[in-house]
Amino acid sequence: MLLEILKKMIACRSISPNDDGTIPLIIEELNKIGFISKTISFGEGEEKVDNLYTRLGTKGPNLCFAGHTDVVPPGPLIEWRNDPFFCSVKDGIIYGRGTVDMKGAIAAFITAAHRVMTTRPEILDLMSMSIMLTSDEEAIAINGTKKLLPWLEEQGEKIDACFVGEPVSRNTICDTIKIGARGSATFFLEIFGKQGHVAYNEYADNAIAKLNKIINLFRAHTLHPGDSIFDASNMEMTNIIVGNEAENVIPGKAKLQFNIRYGDHHRAESLFANYQDILQKHLNPEEFAFNYRSSGDAFVCKTEDFVQLVRESIKNIIGIEPEVNTAGGTSDARFIHKYCSTLEVGLMGRTAHQVNECSSVNDLEILTRVYEGIILGYYERISI
Ligand SMILES: [Zn+2]
Repeated sequence: MLLEILKKMIACRSISPNDDGTIPLIIEELNKIGFISKTISFGEGEEKVDNLYTRLGTKGPNLCFAGHTDVVPPGPLIEWRNDPFFCSVKDGIIYGRGTVDMKGAIAAFITAAHRVMTTRPEILDLMSMSIMLTSDEEAIAINGTKKLLPWLEEQGEKIDACFVGEPVSRNTICDTIKIGARGSATFFLEIFGKQGHVAYNEYADNAIAKLNKIINLFRAHTLHPGDSIFDASNMEMTNIIVGNEAENVIPGKAKLQFNIRYGDHHRAESLFANYQDILQKHLNPEEFAFNYRSSGDAFVCKTEDFVQLVRESIKNIIGIEPEVNTAGGTSDARFIHKYCSTLEVGLMGRTAHQVNECSSVNDLEILTRVYEGIILGYYERISI
């Protein structure tokens, strides 16, 4: 069952934000177990995105699995060992775009739910299970989970705990539980000087020279060094655009783009204010334009109970003590944690977004058993 579902999902060319039929086929699988599904679309025209909310059971509390059906583009096809949208299995390894990020985890949860319903259907006397999926996670993520959560709340739907199937495992399967993430914000700076002839530099004002001065000041600005929960906050320059083709022209404009990953000692707004202060101190207002876009501030899941439950499930099944951290990139957990206790547990992230993305069949089976353990562990806690 596990591999069959995954094969069908990988065959969908669901490059973000196009679902390409993944959600309908998941609904078909979930119908067999008794889930009641609803597809909810947000956005208009080409931006229209399909999302899925599906629930099994009417009783609370409601344990939810969240994820995304979209994938990143395959990259150079010539470098793939097989068609990225054809799931191939060789020597116990499954290849295909989305195998680990994160169609494999979705297949694992569906299989886990199916197994639990076969062996322990009585869990529905005390709880419900639900799945929340979007095809808008990998790109701009505006018509997915971010809108789905308030929509669910309006419908009176409550989620009590949620685990996201992102590929957060590092060296061995389920060696990591992610309980939060650093914040992420991208900053856009434009510097204005005065264009001129390189031979008559006294009549010009070189925008590159001004930008260079500002970059040095920005880099000297201290960010938080990190603590037991968050890695050090870090500013990384991602682009400098001058676009000056001529050898004898002093450029009048230069742009800088940089991203900051930050712990909970900073917020996007206050970082913006700090850098703006530097600009205001060293430049006149007409010499720059500065803006930013935040993808979400740092957060950490405060509910120890849920983390403990997942930790125990992993320990019982594979006998290892997982590391609990906030490392890695952002995911939809940044939206979900505002509604309920949220964490991430999934496959190995090593090949995510790479050519020849892959997972071992064995890891997929272990993850399925861990998910089964989480569902049953959750039931046991509430049935005491
Ligand atoms: Zn992902």
